[in-house]
Amino acid sequence: MVASPVLPLPGENDAAALPLFADPLAPDPVLEEFLHRASSLLTDWLGTAGARSPLPALALLPDVAPERLGLGAERLLSDLQLLMEGAFNPNHPGALAHLDPPPLAASVAADLICAGLNNNLLAEELSPSLTRLEQQLCGWLAARLALPAGAGGVAASGGSLSNLMALVTARRTRGLGSHGQAVVLCSEDAHVSLEKAIAVMGLPAEALQRLPVDAAGRLAPDAMAERLVQLEQAAIPVIAVVATAGTTVRGAIDPLEEIAALCRRHGIWLHIDGAIGAVFALAPAQRVRLQGLEQADSVTVNPQKLLGITKTSSLLLLADPSQLEAAFATGLPYMEPSRAGGHGGEAGLQGSRPAEVLKLWLGLRQLGQQGIEALIEAALQRRCLLEQRLAVDDRLRLLGGPLHLLAFRPAGCSAAAAEEWSARTRQQLLAEELMLSRPLYRGRYHLKAVLGNPHTRPEDLERLAHAIHASIANV
Ligand SMILES: *Cc1c(COP(=O)(O)O)cnc(C)c1O
Repeated sequence: MVASPVLPLPGENDAAALPLFADPLAPDPVLEEFLHRASSLLTDWLGTAGARSPLPALALLPDVAPERLGLGAERLLSDLQLLMEGAFNPNHPGALAHLDPPPLAASVAADLICAGLNNNLLAEELSPSLTRLEQQLCGWLAARLALPAGAGGVAASGGSLSNLMALVTARRTRGLGSHGQAVVLCSEDAHVSLEKAIAVMGLPAEALQRLPVDAAGRLAPDAMAERLVQLEQAAIPVIAVVATAGTTVRGAIDPLEEIAALCRRHGIWLHIDGAIGAVFALAPAQRVRLQGLEQADSVTVNPQKLLGITKTSSLLLLADPSQLEAAFATGLPYMEPSRAGGHGGEAGLQGSRPAEVLKLWLGLRQLGQQGIEALIEAALQRRCLLEQRLAVDDRLRLLGGPLHLLAFRPAGCSAAAAEEWSARTRQQLLAEELMLSRPLYRGRYHLKAVLGNPHTRPEDLERLAHAIHASIANV
């Protein structure tokens, strides 16, 4: 018999080496020092954000494969540093391209603790306090969005997954699980994640029926009313109507009340994709923009997109959260029964998953109601300022909405000219450390600014507007 070789573990003979696992009987000063140094790396990186570009040049990657012998603290930290140098830099005031704001301090700490706790939202016995926290926070947020008493939901790793779970739940609840002809209605400007959901649900791409929008990018209720009648006459069932609260290019909000009334009249599930817009309901002054949200059967909310909750942070909220279990529960034969509100793994598509709710909870607690409102209002003010500065130039065509997004392109130019202008101008702006995105919308490239970055100052926006005006001169 050959004895299996016992490999030496790093740290066994070296008192100062980083332990692989924390000593369960005493706090380890070496581990503590390591975490402190990792925190220092991070605070240095965040604190030097303004001195680098929002989008760094392609950087050298450290080796990816584990070496024969495990690495110690020095190498681990220096490799980390190398990787950080090539990372997108959301803490830069000029990071205005996407819905990816700087990370909130409490969320960063909560993510560290989340990793250290290593609990699993799959089952209550693997995350007793965190399972309850998730259920309660979903209930709280649902109440804040004015969903009916008893509303709640589940956290998901991103809005795409929340949308998918919503449509699967709608289909199951409506008894359309095995119906091959059923359709989903949404607007032309609805998010691409709905196309993925349709594919995952085994439906043909045509099952996602996109309806026209008005000049402001809002789903036209007349077109929807007409389509619902046609579908009824053709005996084609509707899984759900998806209204968007905050479209991805221009931040338009579909007319939620009118759509909700139509859904009620036809007995159709209303899912509201509020990945961008739903958090605006947390600011009382903005609630009126989202009138009708409270009538949804399900709502996707992505706190990661504006509030600085670290990724991923998305919730799917339902008026009747028991429908989630009805759609997804399989029984968990390897787990003790839940003592209270059920297992996280029975309330959605994901099995094992981290307690992402922790960074949302701690982040919202750090902000407070006042901080949440201030973030939202300041984002809107920045959009207004930029819009004012750009609107004076009638050579620009602006595509805005009521939220913190603003897209634009030269007025009346060809698709080719818009493409050339957008590519050139994005590069010029990057050279000035201003990063915008370049969405293709209605067959033309645009530039888009997302104004959710709390570090962006009025002078950055003045500089941006100035550069845009200059760029238009050469179209
Ligand atoms: C971002 C977005 C999504 C998808 O969210 P992810 O977290 O990226 O998966 C869905 N809908 C809308 C309107 C979005 O803007």
